[in-house]
Formats: sequence, structure tokens, C-alpha cells
Amino acid sequence: TTILNIQGLTKAYSGGTLALTGIDLTVESGEFIAVIGPSGAGKSTLLRSINRLVEPTDGTITFLGEVMSSKNKGSLRRLRSQIGMIFQHYNLVNRSSVLENVLHGRLGYMSPLAGVFSRYSEADKQAAIDLLVKVGLANEVYKRADELSGGQKQRVGISRALMQQPKLILADEPIASLDPKSSAVVMDTIYENCRLQGIACLVNLHQVEVAKKYATRIIGIKAGTKVFDGTADQLTDEM
Ligand code: ADP
Ligand code: ADP
Repeated sequence: TTILNIQGLTKAYSGGTLALTGIDLTVESGEFIAVIGPSGAGKSTLLRSINRLVEPTDGTITFLGEVMSSKNKGSLRRLRSQIGMIFQHYNLVNRSSVLENVLHGRLGYMSPLAGVFSRYSEADKQAAIDLLVKVGLANEVYKRADELSGGQKQRVGISRALMQQPKLILADEPIASLDPKSSAVVMDTIYENCRLQGIACLVNLHQVEVAKKYATRIIGIKAGTKVFDGTADQLTDEM
């Protein structure tokens, strides 16, 4: 089943930069899609437009059969709660514990200001701890987020996204700040969890080899335009 349909997505930033022009994209449930392309191609704008961290200039985004619109706050909130976001720079609340950071995912759409620890149920806490154990952070649960290594921080970011029980995960350059070893762990963690739970994933990557290793499908973006949409086998050298 189709979970995400993007038609004619265009984004012109206020400075005049045309970051995306007329992007069409359909995502089926459970697909693991890598978005590749040079720096400045518009990959990040594409992901951010989907959950409206960026407001599109034109186009229609339909998620779970509902058109996403910033005008309908209730609907937007509900849809966003089913989209987990993973960031290059983790976006953890540094002074909070690892566990609290994961619990923020329970609020659906995370905000660094959202929620205090006491609002969560024991069941939520246990679910968060279970996720942390699963991603190999059993010994980090009560540490402050800023005590962790980059790779560990990103696994907290993954756990926070999974805590939402999302239908879709958007991962924006999740390994761009990590060494090769941590990158492999982080990609394996995202991949395995998405595949096991049937979560669709759009992951921005600048290394083509990584995209080829994991993705069931690859989208190539150049200068704001979709220039490739196919499998790793079909990918040519110029992409
Ligand atoms: P990528 O993720 O592929 O590196 P981006 O989506 O970050 O590409 O950027 C696409 C283009 O939009 C670039 O030219 C970038 O400079 C520009 N851009 C990105 N974010 C903003 C912003 N907030 N304001 C103005 N221009 C932006
Ligand atoms: P960069 O990789 O360029 O440093 P980030 O991924 O750190 O960018 O985040 C950039 C923007 O994303 C922020 O300005 C903020 O508006 C938005 N953002 C970051 N974290 C969250 C969050 N947890 N929930 C909602 N929006 C967020």
C-alpha cells in the first residue's frame, strides 16, 4: 500500500533559492529508500518538507491517505506523530537523560521543550528502556545525553523515532557526522528496525556505496530535480 505520495513538490526559500522543483514521489509501506545527490541538491529540503519542518511553496503531500496541510493543525499533528525524524546532529536535549530523550518520542512530534519526565507512564518508560536495550544502550539509559559518543547519540535518536511507533522514518544524513564503524552500526540499526516493523524509511545519504548496500530503492536528486528512481543495480556512475 502507498503510504506517501508527493506531487509537484516545489520549494523556493525566501532568499530566492529554488531548492526543489516539481518532485513526484510515491512510497509504499516498508520500503527502505536512500535519497542521494550532491550537497545542496535539495535532499534535506525534501525530507523536511514531508513533515513540514519546511513549508513547501507548491505541491501536494499525501500521507496515509490524508493531504498534509499546515492550515489543519489537528490533522498535521496527527500525521506528524506517525513520522519519526532522525537528524544528522542528533537533536537530543543534552542536559536530559537518554531515557527522557527517548520518551520525548512518545509525544509524537518531538520538541526539545516538550514534556517532563513525570508525565510518562511506567509502560512508556519500560517501552523506552526496551528500545534502548535493543539498540545496545542498556548501560546508557540514565546517563546524560551529552556524555555519549556520536554513534551512541544517534542510536538514542533512532530510539526516539521508534518510540513514536511511526509508519515512516525520515533520516536526514544520519551518519554524516560519524566514523565508519559507528556509521555501520547506526545504518544496521535503522535498517533492521524498519524492516522488522515494516516501517518505510527515507534516508538521505551522500555515500552511494552505503545507499547501494541498504536501499531497496534509490532516489537521485540533482539541483532540486529527481534524476533517478530505481534499484541499486540500475544506478549508473554519473549519479
Ligand atoms: P542537501 O540536503 O541536498 O544538501 P538542501 O536541501 O540542504 O540540500 O539545500 C538545497 C538548497 O537550498 C541549497 O542551495 C541550500 O543552500 C538551500 N537552502 C537550504 N536551506 C535553506 C534555508 N533555510 N534558507 C535558504 N536556503 C536554503
Ligand atoms: P543541521 O543538521 O543543519 O544542524 P538540524 O538537523 O540540527 O540541522 O535541525 C535544524 C532544524 O530542525 C532546527 O532549526 C529546528 O527548527 C528543526 N528541529 C530540530 N530538532 C527538532 C525536533 N526535535 N523537533 C522539531 N523540529 C526540530
